Amino acid sequence: MILVLKHGTPKSKVEELCDWLTSSFGVQTSPIFGSDTTIIGLVGDTSAISKETLELEDAVERVMKVQEPYKRANRKFHPDDTLIRIGDVEIGGARICIAAGPCSVESEEQIKQVAASVHKGGSMMLRGGAFKPRSSPYSFQGLKAEGLMFMKRARELTGMPVVSEITNPAQVELFIEFVDVIQVGTRNMQNFELLKELGRVRKPILLKRGFANTIDELLMSAEYIMSGGNSDVILCERGIRTFETSTRNTLDISAVPVLKKLTHLPVFVDPSHASGAAWLVEPLAKAAIAAGADGLIIEVHNDPKRALSDGQQSLTPEQFDRLFVKLKAVAEAVGRIL
Ligand code: PEP
Ligand code: MN
Repeated sequence: MILVLKHGTPKSKVEELCDWLTSSFGVQTSPIFGSDTTIIGLVGDTSAISKETLELEDAVERVMKVQEPYKRANRKFHPDDTLIRIGDVEIGGARICIAAGPCSVESEEQIKQVAASVHKGGSMMLRGGAFKPRSSPYSFQGLKAEGLMFMKRARELTGMPVVSEITNPAQVELFIEFVDVIQVGTRNMQNFELLKELGRVRKPILLKRGFANTIDELLMSAEYIMSGGNSDVILCERGIRTFETSTRNTLDISAVPVLKKLTHLPVFVDPSHASGAAWLVEPLAKAAIAAGADGLIIEVHNDPKRALSDGQQSLTPEQFDRLFVKLKAVAEAVGRIL
């Protein structure tokens, strides 16, 4: 961090500022006195120093950050890609991971049927929501704990690890018991109490980007989980809100290479929620793999027309089978395995 001081700041004031910064924040200070301007360089852990508050100091003209505020998620401090193991599945390596399944778990039979189909079609993990954060209180809210139990049974049937969305810190124990990967949805990306609780959990977290959040904010949310002690975080780009109305959201495809540059954490893409239309899932999934995504989370339903949520963007198991074959070719073309 660099502080640019106001013209004519007396030396005594510069020393007073340096002493205060060292004693309050434990950082080293190096003042440089120029003929016109004095600057102070700060080194050490500046994460607790607020740029905006420091700019309120009478002697301070401007404060510049020279490092990103996220440390644990930052590739600068951890150049190698993070690999996350979930049973036989490895995420973040050469092999691309697909998590397919319905938006919502609707019954034990339904989830078992979809699980068996997507497993046959090549999926490595099973997705399915049990606590559904719906825009309308009148829409299907999910089977809750019973839905998680059905997910667990589907895992027993196929061996695929399961991923499901948590919506409240009070559900943590339930998720530890029933799921392999805990999903944080777009609406909860900045539910900091939930993120802190997940920092104490020993299970991978699939953290979806908020639909109105920047990449830096996504990384700071990952930092919340990681600073609590859980470093197994998978990031997921799932589309953001823009002025464009022809798709449900706008898939920010550049978020994939940007995230791969900034962080060592694996990056997934959700082409289903990004597009809101089954016919768009294939091109967006292909684009995601070509752009360097480590995995995809895709909605597949046994009967999309009768789905209790997101049927319009769900693939049938047959469509998923065909998509998987096409994605294999794209993966190979960019030096990955599927
Ligand atoms: C989901 O994956 O079921 C979901 C609700 O996604 P998002 O949080 O991205 O809307
Ligand atoms: Mn959905």
